[in-house]
Amino acid sequence: MLPKADSYEAVRDQFVWRVPERYNIGVNVCDKWAESDPERLALIHKRRDGGVEEYRFADIRTLSNRFANVLAAHGVARGDRVGILLPQAPETAVSHVAVYKMGGIAVPLFSLFGVEALEYRLANCGARAVVTDAVGAAKLAQIRDRLPELRAVFRIDGIGGAEGGACLDWHALTDAASDAFTPVDTAADDPAVIIYTSGTTGQPKGALHAHRVLLGHLPGVEISHDLFPQPGDRIWTPADWAWIGGLLDVLLPAWHHGVTVVSHRFEKFDPEQAFRLLADFQVRNAFLPPTALKMMRAVADPRARHAYAMRSVASGGETLGTELLDWGRQTFGVTINEFYGQTECNMIVSSAATLMPPKPGIMGRPAPGHDVAVIDGAGNRLPPGELGLIAVRRPDPVMFLGYWNNPAATAGKFIGEWLVTGDQGELDADGYIRFVGRDDDVITSAGYRIGPGEIEDCLIGHPAVRMAAVVGVPDPLRTEIVKAFVVLQDGVTADDALVAAIQEHVKTRLAAHEYPRAIEFLDQLPMTTTGKIIRRELRDRSPS
Ligand code: ATP
Ligand code: MG
Repeated sequence: MLPKADSYEAVRDQFVWRVPERYNIGVNVCDKWAESDPERLALIHKRRDGGVEEYRFADIRTLSNRFANVLAAHGVARGDRVGILLPQAPETAVSHVAVYKMGGIAVPLFSLFGVEALEYRLANCGARAVVTDAVGAAKLAQIRDRLPELRAVFRIDGIGGAEGGACLDWHALTDAASDAFTPVDTAADDPAVIIYTSGTTGQPKGALHAHRVLLGHLPGVEISHDLFPQPGDRIWTPADWAWIGGLLDVLLPAWHHGVTVVSHRFEKFDPEQAFRLLADFQVRNAFLPPTALKMMRAVADPRARHAYAMRSVASGGETLGTELLDWGRQTFGVTINEFYGQTECNMIVSSAATLMPPKPGIMGRPAPGHDVAVIDGAGNRLPPGELGLIAVRRPDPVMFLGYWNNPAATAGKFIGEWLVTGDQGELDADGYIRFVGRDDDVITSAGYRIGPGEIEDCLIGHPAVRMAAVVGVPDPLRTEIVKAFVVLQDGVTADDALVAAIQEHVKTRLAAHEYPRAIEFLDQLPMTTTGKIIRRELRDRSPS
């Protein structure tokens, strides 16, 4: 819990970490409430057929105890990896809690992953069991003979159909299992979860986290949701719980605080439905990544049709920018707080409208408890105004234990005691950190170092532009030139006049060297399953 104070400086200066020596995420997010307040509402799940299910913390304890017994009966032991290949669903949350309580290591996996992506991750972590549904089971059937360590596949939607025979029935087994389970006594430093990075810059890496990772997230979550929790809070995110942004920024911190989580599985993110869900369930707190916000911004007049109960909106994972901030104020009447982090060390920087003046276009300040700095290649802190490497100092409870089975990559992530994020940024005189770009995405043109985010933000301010991605393409004269890939709003046609108008729009708002000398129109941008623009692919398709 954050100290009670009304300025960022006071909260930061009074903050102390309280990480107990023995700590288990599953006990903390579930059994704690099941004992003290069993009827408290844990989850409201809107099914695809429109039906709504409610789960109390007592229900989550019973179900997770039973499933922990099922895992043990099928040979899953402490330290074993259990893949959770599911969209948002009650069984997804229950399986996580069960794995933590039995001392296993959960491996969240996106249900959108293709066969190759799954094989890479399951082989890499040596998963012993996987919890999935029919869609996941059909993919696993194609690779299972190449995964000798995978012994058990549990399906949450029955074991009918072609792939059914090779699977175990999650519900039938759970129904028949005992309610009684004594959680394994874990140390806060014991491994709990492997989360694969998004793979934006190359092969995804498995970041192994300890149980304490949840406690490490709390200060950032609390400030980015304007002093979360407040009475009546109820949180939702369209982000998948397989992403650190869904699991450790929403589901688990909410349950740590006993806050009700709303869940729903979108086949594909649908902005119209997102507005309806926010209104129907009177969601008070939402984590909406920039990509989701950009899609929601394209929906006409959402205020006229629905009444919202929003108290806080947080966004992160990509640059938020000023356009979305303005839109958020108009639409929900709140200032969207931006946060920053990465799978290896998350939620380390945030803005918080209740504690510090927002600075549009700038991510925010170090979340209480984290020492975040801009450093040079030798590990020295840089003064305000100098571009350098964004880094976090260890020890830090939110920091990963290392890349799974890859000590060389883990060592390569550090300069001395600094974890180096791979992102570049700059401090300002008030200690805010401006994100400039990933190392690979920073553009060097005519002697300037340009981050793509600011230009992309400016581009989406043009009324014809829905989404934009900016990269540097090689140029003999200027080293690189700025090239923009643009997705237009529905009904707009691309022509030379529009190119000139978009260029002019940027020229008049940003520095002259930042305008895109080349513009290409696309129907969609290449994105990771976490909604991050893969600029590397755009660079590769732009020959010099
Ligand atoms: P990989 O490491 O496999 O290439 P990835 O870095 O995209 O993939 P994640 O850990 O999911 O995988 O993403 C973290 C990265 O996302 C950060 O290092 C940063 O580049 C970007 N990011 C996160 N938050 C923000 C933000 N608020 N503004 C700009 N970029 C952000
Ligand atoms: Mg990364």
